[in-house]
Amino acid sequence: MQDVVEKVYEQVVARNRGEVEFHQAVHEVLESLGPVIAKHPHYAEGALLERIVEPERQIMFRVPWVDDAGQVHVNRGFRIEFNSALGPYKGGLRFHPSVNAGIIKFLGFEQIFKNALTAQGIGGGKGGSDFDPHGRSDAEVMRFCQSFMTELSRHIGPSTDVPAGDIGVGGREVGYMFGQYKRLRNSYDAGVLTGKGLAWGGSLVRTEATGYGAVLFAQSMLSTKGESLEGKKVIVSGAGNVAIYAIEKAQQLGATPITFSDSSGYVVDEAGVDLELLKQVKEVERGRVADYVERRPGARLVTDGSVWDVPGDVALPCATQNELDGDAANTLLRGGCGVVSEGANMPSTPEAVEAFQKAGILFGPGKAANAGGVATSALEMEQNAGRTRWDFATAEAKLTGIMTDIHDSCVAAAEEYGRPGDYVLGANAAGFTRVADVMIAHGIV
Ligand code: GLU
Repeated sequence: MQDVVEKVYEQVVARNRGEVEFHQAVHEVLESLGPVIAKHPHYAEGALLERIVEPERQIMFRVPWVDDAGQVHVNRGFRIEFNSALGPYKGGLRFHPSVNAGIIKFLGFEQIFKNALTAQGIGGGKGGSDFDPHGRSDAEVMRFCQSFMTELSRHIGPSTDVPAGDIGVGGREVGYMFGQYKRLRNSYDAGVLTGKGLAWGGSLVRTEATGYGAVLFAQSMLSTKGESLEGKKVIVSGAGNVAIYAIEKAQQLGATPITFSDSSGYVVDEAGVDLELLKQVKEVERGRVADYVERRPGARLVTDGSVWDVPGDVALPCATQNELDGDAANTLLRGGCGVVSEGANMPSTPEAVEAFQKAGILFGPGKAANAGGVATSALEMEQNAGRTRWDFATAEAKLTGIMTDIHDSCVAAAEEYGRPGDYVLGANAAGFTRVADVMIAHGIV
């Protein structure tokens, strides 16, 4: 790391003690900025780097709610409004017991550059709670969402901050939150949340977008080598929204996804994943991956080791941060993996990224590869603002165009800064310079 960025990193560590995921995300971006600042030293002036690593606003609040047995619970709510240079803060809400300030800050920081890469005029933010929706009744989830939105509603708005889903927040939760927002504000601001239901302002393709996008990004990377996904064996982790639609798009492009996973283990289905069954188990029944194995002859559930022990040509980590470490990366490489496209946010540890890059394989970092979700959220905002609705083909064509542009921007930036094929540097440099140019134009704010 260059001296100037090293100093900024040390300040981040000192000022945000114990927030290891945030440190990791900042380190990865700052490391990429060495060549950018060497070429354009003005980006290090006016404390621009110091400003970009400090959230514009951090909101932390109490979320009390009553369960079905009448017991009162207290969770913690967060919204980190990180950077609004390019537009209203935009980013999801995560409901998961692991959520804390450091996790939300890492996600918010990533979101700044991801959103910049989409070129849709959206700033970066993220929020959530340590609430665990698993095993809770619909009524409990509703009461939690209403309590959460009672505070959050003071801080958001279609031109201010536009939350959406992330892990643990899907259509059901967005629905309960939107209902409460509308009631508190007496205003049908459809554009205040994205990931809405189709009958009340949602966009076609939003559900599919993150998974589709990660696969389209893999396809674009392969095309630089004159290859495609056709006939490739794909290893997927996760079994949520991102994983399910990554599997769908991979199948459409002629590849064979053979795995998926959740916290109870991973499934290997050598014949290729039965997508209808997986959707039934996860989306309709809200069940576990074991339920799939019970109904699918030939599929097996593995409860030790990791899904990355399974050899394949392409890996799509679609579960969560740091799910793929250095050892797993080396195992994947030994198994012949030549492409990794991150559907989740920061799923590969720094050691894993280093191993992939050293091996010279195609590695698409999350902030580029999984930007299809937020990009389609911006398309949802666009439809809401125009009080219009596009059909599936129109929305999907726009998503495909955006993913191609993101890919090409990463390639161009990597070349410009002397590291052709380095998508990590390309994504960070392209995202950063777009935000930094606007921050400079806006003055010291
Ligand atoms: N949570 C998603 C992400 O990580 C989507 C955010 C959004 O749609 O605003 O990008």
